[in-house]
Amino acid sequence: MLIVKKFGGTSVADKERIFNVAKRCIEDYKAGNSVVVVLSAMGKQTDVLLEMARDINPKASKRELDMLLTTGEQTSVALMAMAMNSLGVPAISLNSFQARMKTTSVYGNSKLRKIDTERIKTELENNKIVIVTGFQGVNAVGDYTTLGRGGSDTTAVALAAALHADACEIYTDVDGVYTADPRMVKTARKIDEITYEEMLDLASLGAGVLHNRSVELAKKYGVKLVVRSSLNYNEGTVVKEETKNMEKLMVSGVAVDRNVARIAVVGLKDEPGVAFKLFNHLARYDINVDVILQSIGRDGTKDISFTVALDDADEAVAIVERHREGSLKCQKVDVEKNIAKLSIVGAGMMSHPGVAAAMFECLYDEQVNIKMIATSEIRVTVIINDKDVERAINAVHDKFALGQGE
Ligand code: ASP
Ligand code: MG
Repeated sequence: MLIVKKFGGTSVADKERIFNVAKRCIEDYKAGNSVVVVLSAMGKQTDVLLEMARDINPKASKRELDMLLTTGEQTSVALMAMAMNSLGVPAISLNSFQARMKTTSVYGNSKLRKIDTERIKTELENNKIVIVTGFQGVNAVGDYTTLGRGGSDTTAVALAAALHADACEIYTDVDGVYTADPRMVKTARKIDEITYEEMLDLASLGAGVLHNRSVELAKKYGVKLVVRSSLNYNEGTVVKEETKNMEKLMVSGVAVDRNVARIAVVGLKDEPGVAFKLFNHLARYDINVDVILQSIGRDGTKDISFTVALDDADEAVAIVERHREGSLKCQKVDVEKNIAKLSIVGAGMMSHPGVAAAMFECLYDEQVNIKMIATSEIRVTVIINDKDVERAINAVHDKFALGQGE
């Protein structure tokens, strides 16, 4: 078998953890498998590097930031190869230039375009464990780029797809994907199997276990993923196209994102093209908009409110302000920062009407006020006050009996 194994920062945080990972990979290697290992930077090294950059120059260019950040992963792969070598196993580390991982041109948030697997295959044929840097690539002008925070997962899935690997295992410091964040919900339970669609929603809604682009890629190329802990041998969560309990589980998990702000643009003209102009201004500055709500028009005006990531809130307001008297012609812009996004996700929702109502009832029982609502076929999202989050997530988790297993 060809196995791709990805280990996150906490799994390689120090010497002891590095040897722990080395041994786990060697077990697979000695059992006769070809093993490709993808690593993140050690511990919080990426944050440390970003802090150093900020200290030197808060306005450092994205190109130089990427040049700096790629050293994090380069450190961990080299040390890992040395660890394996010291255990008598042939291993080689490759960075993204050596492994020929080509990306789009943007720095800081690049996308993988193509992986030329020749070099990796040659090293595997030479009976080596191949250890590749996650999170990075090389663009058309030959510069290093990074794939966005958490991007090593995406490197692993892309490699698994390019190499037609038999398994892609994502190792982290928790046992798998949970029905809710165990730090907030005591009864949260590990999920055994989950669909790509559900995982995609959970990942982008703040569940934090997998980089959402890695799930997109896995779905696109049909790469079955296993998310599990590097600290024990528990089974983990399998992410795949269809799960056996699809019919039974209306709701698979509850996710919370506290990093959101709501912006209300009040008194816009009620005429064609207004939403386009507003969101086009924001898109030009790369501001991602999530939940959108438009009021019914009255007296020729309407309001549009939307959520953005908390870090983007001030910039979004400034953009709208700049165009307030020009192309947008609105009365005022308000921002609210103490809010959070709570979502339930479940493939079974498609065939079970009433899931949204049950969620709203439960929030009503808790006297939690809902500010905005958005739904898709497999999820219901509400925007609530941040102070209500812990109460709300526990109540919703209980309501759908998520702590009780299948
Ligand atoms: N080291 C990078 C980060 O901290 C990439 C990753 O860990 O996946 O975001
Ligand atoms: Mg991660």
